[in-house]
Amino acid sequence: MIKLRGIAKSFGKQEVLKGIDLTVEKGEVVAILGPSGSGKTTLLRCINYLEKPNAGEISIDDFSVNCRKPAKKDIHLLRRKTAMVFQQYNLFRHKTALENVMEGLVVVKKLPKEEARRIGAELLEKVGLADKLDAYPSQLSGGQQQRVGIARALALNPEVILFDEPTSALDPELVGEVLAVIRKIAREGITMIIVTHEMGFAQDVANHIVFMEGGLVVEEGPPKVIFQAPKEERTRQFLARYT
Ligand code: ADP
Repeated sequence: MIKLRGIAKSFGKQEVLKGIDLTVEKGEVVAILGPSGSGKTTLLRCINYLEKPNAGEISIDDFSVNCRKPAKKDIHLLRRKTAMVFQQYNLFRHKTALENVMEGLVVVKKLPKEEARRIGAELLEKVGLADKLDAYPSQLSGGQQQRVGIARALALNPEVILFDEPTSALDPELVGEVLAVIRKIAREGITMIIVTHEMGFAQDVANHIVFMEGGLVVEEGPPKVIFQAPKEERTRQFLARYT
């Protein structure tokens, strides 16, 4: 359903992604693990063209983007099929929780305001924020802001939601509520790719683990195999440090 072929990305002379191949099936929850600096976030950002890959191909269903010579309309389409949940939430500060979720529905999906409001309220209820529709980001905790971020991503009804270390900016006591929401929507069969350092969470919510190091996929497979019987020494060393 999502296929990455030979994704490469350099910043100046630094080769951050060295040719990533990855296939993600519909409904899969993929966790990308690996040491800091291995290119996980850059890969995620390449999937929706927040970073422009230097080479490779990104396919979603029956359409694909050739990253060497992408057509503008392909980039646009790719962005429509993906939604990102950011580490720092990236909410509009001057908009309420509901307005943040409605934005994509009105601007991207061109829905009438009333319908956008109804869907937005439903989604905020789904992430446990039914009583915070009119709150501004500054009036919400980090965990609540991130749940607004998740509702906003869901509103776009994307083929895949990309989570970039969604809990790493949160105080420890707020991590659980965000992971619980991600777990809940994972059970609904939404395809997700999650960059995370939460090993327990990855082990229990993902059905496909990708271990990256030095801009390459070192090893991938089901959590049982990766966590209990990794084939690669580098995976073993990484997991020994984290679990
Ligand atoms: P990870 O998510 O695995 O920690 P990143 O993808 O964030 O890794 O970063 C990989 C490398 O790319 C790092 O060395 C980082 O400094 C570099 N990098 C990431 N984004 C940029 C950028 N916009 N400009 C220059 N270097 C960057």
